[in-house]
Amino acid sequence: MDAVKIANKEKVCHDCGKEIKLEGKEIKNGVLIVYKDGEKEIPVFKCQDCFQRNPELRNYQSCEVYSRIVGYLRPVQQWHVGKKQEFQEREEYQLSKNA
Ligand SMILES: [Zn+2]
Repeated sequence: MDAVKIANKEKVCHDCGKEIKLEGKEIKNGVLIVYKDGEKEIPVFKCQDCFQRNPELRNYQSCEVYSRIVGYLRPVQQWHVGKKQEFQEREEYQLSKNA
């Protein structure tokens, strides 16, 4: 299998949300399953317990995310590569009520 890039927020069990522990490239308490959705590869972690209970991926639905780009709301999937990268690097802020 080719290397798959995993974002930090994705390192949890798909079914129960338990944190998946990695040591370098070794997965300590689960398995990584890579699903193909057309061209796209979707990496999904499952902890040992959930994988033994059910090794299949259920209730997966790809989600179309809209965000603001140069003044318009457009699906992020349709953005060009540079802007997609910029979207990934965006941080969320919580404004206080007085702001
Ligand atoms: Zn689990």
